Amino acid sequence: MKKLVSRKAEQFTESVIREMTRLANRYGSVNLAQGFPDFPAPEAVKRAAMDAIAADINQYAITWGAKRFRDAIARKVETCSGLRVDPETEITVCCGSTEGMIATMLAVVDPGEEVVIFEPFYENYGPDAILSGASPRYVKLRPPDWTFDSEELTSAFNQRTKAIILNTPNNPTGKVFTREELEQIAALCRRWNAVAITDEIYEHILFDGAQHIPMATLEGMRDRTITVNAMSKTYSVTGWRVGYAIASPPLTDGIRKVHDFLTVGAAAPLQEAGAVAMDLPGSYYQELAESYLHRRDLLMDLLDQAGFQAFRPEGAYYIMADIAPFGFDDDVRFARYLVEEIGVAVVPGSSFYHRPEDGARYVRFCFCKKDETLREAGQRLLKLKARRLAGTRP
Ligand code: GLN
Repeated sequence: MKKLVSRKAEQFTESVIREMTRLANRYGSVNLAQGFPDFPAPEAVKRAAMDAIAADINQYAITWGAKRFRDAIARKVETCSGLRVDPETEITVCCGSTEGMIATMLAVVDPGEEVVIFEPFYENYGPDAILSGASPRYVKLRPPDWTFDSEELTSAFNQRTKAIILNTPNNPTGKVFTREELEQIAALCRRWNAVAITDEIYEHILFDGAQHIPMATLEGMRDRTITVNAMSKTYSVTGWRVGYAIASPPLTDGIRKVHDFLTVGAAAPLQEAGAVAMDLPGSYYQELAESYLHRRDLLMDLLDQAGFQAFRPEGAYYIMADIAPFGFDDDVRFARYLVEEIGVAVVPGSSFYHRPEDGARYVRFCFCKKDETLREAGQRLLKLKARRLAGTRP
C-alpha cells in the first residue's frame, strides 16, 4: 500500500533538542538542553519592536528583507569583518538561521550531490541534507580540541562535492576554527569548485582570545561562501526567528526564490528592531562575550564539581562533557535519567552524530542561562556525584 508520509520525512526523527525542552517542562527540570537564553533581550531592541508594531509596520516586508534592516546588516558586516556586501543583491532575510540554512541548501544542492559536514554537527544539518537530497560526507572533529585530520578532509572532497557546511564558533563542541584550518577548507572549495555554507550565528561569543574569522574574508572565497547568521543568539531573541543569508548575487538569486516560496518573509516589525540591534555599539558585543565567559567558567566549575569530564569551549554557549565516569551504557539513557531523576535536561551526544554510537559517551550542556539557573542545575547535579562515589549504577 502507498505510504501517506514521504520517504524524506520518514528518514529523520523529531528534533531531540526540542524534545528535551518538552521533557524538561514535564519533569520540572532545569533546561540546559535547548540553547535559548532565560534572561531578557536588550531594552533598546525590545522597545524598537514594540514601537514598530505601534507604528503599524504589520504587513509583509519585501520578501528578501526590509530595506532598513538589510542596510543595517551590511553596515554591521563591514564594521565587524571589513567585508562590503550589497544589501540590494547580496542579502536575504529569513525566518531564523534555520530557514537560512535550508533555503540555502535547497538553492544550491541538487539531489545526489555531496555535502561535507563536520561531525559532531548541529542536528538540523542532517534533515537539511535529506530534504535537499544531498549525500552527506562526514568529517570527524576529535576531542579534546575537536581538530580534524587534513587527509580525512581532503579525501571527503571530489567532483560530486557541491558544498561544505561549516559552523564556527561551533555547536556543540565550542570549537573556533583557526585561520589555518579555514585556509585548508577554502583551498578544497576552490579546487573542487564547491560552495562554503557557513553558520556563524555564534560569531560574537568567543573566549580566551579566540578570534572569529568569516570564511568569506579568505582569498577567493567571497563569491563562493554563503554566510548564514541571525539575531537569535547575538541579541538573545531566539523566538523572533529573524536571520539572514549573505551571498554573491547569483547565489542570492537562488536563495531568495526558495525563501520566497518557503515563508514569504520574516516578521516585519521584528526586522525594524533588527535594524536597531545591528547599530548597537561595539561595547555591546564586548559585554556579551564577557558575560558568556563568566557563564562558561561557572558551568565548567559546576560540572567539574559534579564529576564530569567537560571540554572547555572557546566559543558558542555549549559544553560537551564525557559521561564515562558515570557508568551508563549510553547517552540517551543517561540524559533520560538526568531529566527524570536529577532534574536537569541536557542533549544526548548521539543527536550530533550520524552513527549514534559515536556520540554515546557525551552529553551537551548549554550555559546561556542566568547564574541562578546554572547554580540550581549545579546543585542538582551534585546528587550525581554522590551516586558515582557510592558506585551505584542506576
Ligand atoms: N541552536 C540551539 C541549540 O542547539 C537551539 C536549537 C533550536 O531548537 N532551534 O540548542
